[in-house]
Amino acid sequence: MTFTMQQNIPVVHWDKALIEKYDCRGPRYTSYPTATEFNDQYTVSDYEQALRKVKEQPFEPLSVYLHIPFCHDICYYCACNKIVTRKQEVADTYLNYLEKEMRLIHDVLGRKRNINQLHLGGGTPTFLNPAQMTRLIHMLSTYFQLSESDDREYSIEIDPRTVTPDTLALLKGLGFNRISLGVQDFSPQVQQAINRVNPVDMVEGLMVAARNYGYSSINFDLIYGLPYQTATSLKETIESVIALSPDRIAFYNYAHLPERFTSQRAIDRMTLPDADEKLLMLNTISDLFSDAGYVYIGMDHFVKPEDPMAQAQRLGRLQRNFQGYSIARSTNMLGLGVSSISSVSDTFAQNCKEVTAYYEALDNNVLPIERGVKTSADDKRRAYVIMHLISNLQLSFADWEKTFGDRFSDYFAEELRELDPMQQDALVEINAGNIKVLANGRSMLRNICMVFDIYHNPSKQLYSKVI
Ligand code: SF4
Repeated sequence: MTFTMQQNIPVVHWDKALIEKYDCRGPRYTSYPTATEFNDQYTVSDYEQALRKVKEQPFEPLSVYLHIPFCHDICYYCACNKIVTRKQEVADTYLNYLEKEMRLIHDVLGRKRNINQLHLGGGTPTFLNPAQMTRLIHMLSTYFQLSESDDREYSIEIDPRTVTPDTLALLKGLGFNRISLGVQDFSPQVQQAINRVNPVDMVEGLMVAARNYGYSSINFDLIYGLPYQTATSLKETIESVIALSPDRIAFYNYAHLPERFTSQRAIDRMTLPDADEKLLMLNTISDLFSDAGYVYIGMDHFVKPEDPMAQAQRLGRLQRNFQGYSIARSTNMLGLGVSSISSVSDTFAQNCKEVTAYYEALDNNVLPIERGVKTSADDKRRAYVIMHLISNLQLSFADWEKTFGDRFSDYFAEELRELDPMQQDALVEINAGNIKVLANGRSMLRNICMVFDIYHNPSKQLYSKVI
């Protein structure tokens, strides 16, 4: 494995021997404990109790994730929780229920709380037509205090096929200042094979409009490992992406699991790239974006060096949440809508995954919580370590000890021993005061974090591999 330095941040290169040795399968650590530990012993009253603790800090802003589950068409690679429909009126019903959920939360919190971070995800949030989108923002402003500060982060996931420049103007007027475009790949053959055709000129038109309307950040979601993709075809896609110059890029691995996700059955297994081709793709992604000046944040994210995420990582302040890497603006995140996850006080709570169950709970004036977990003192100690390593690539023992009062090397004596082979493979460097993730370790972040994950059980094999 080789690496080059860019602003003191090593550029990752993927090494077959290391990938095979460590079998990079594992959680993505968007939370700790991860969602597999959520259970149905967690109840609505647990969640209400957690909300009441939030009520005790009335001036703390909130982060809100809001899920819109509807899509007009199915993308064959999809593994999301979504409802494919052409009936626009289903969104009116859904908004009615979202309003009930907002009202119930408002009742517990007792006042309109400031939202400094808002993310609309899906499904396809832009399934909502202009009137429905306007109503949604009006509802939010009825039960919460929407921020007008330039510092706010209000973002929305956009399927390029569902919007025009006029939609972007409306969204900007409604307060959104960040967009995430689901591009996936620009090859016409790949787009046909995944049933998602959004050519370069369509995305380019939206980019130009988004810049004109003053959006402060534009993200592209891309996927590697799709049918008919090769390292060569991917290179062409990446060159087009670099020419469009988004601020952030998330590059996800396609995991073919047709037994779990029925829409994937439309993808012919024989058209998928093999492991060697995917390794070539990973290095193509890493090399091209690095050469273009992007910084590899970790896992699957690249950003421009001046992006607040790169700055936050340099300062050790980057975090992860259910949307991936983020700059934490608030301690508590409310998840609204079907299947959304909240991280509130010392609990994680997930809403009902099925829309009928979500509606039924709200019909009974009950918050639609299906499962969750209360974090223990040990969970918090481990979460701190995992989140620092995966986000900031280092961990200071003194900072951890200041937070928790224990001696790091005593509390994690076994884990430090387990990291020995990783130190020998130059994935990490451990000294008396800290752990640092080295260049080799940047492609093995999940494996490094798994050492501190007390719940991790490789035999469960619920997670996708990197290649
Ligand atoms: S990938 Fe996104 S837009 Fe496509 S079906 Fe899945 S949720 Fe809908």
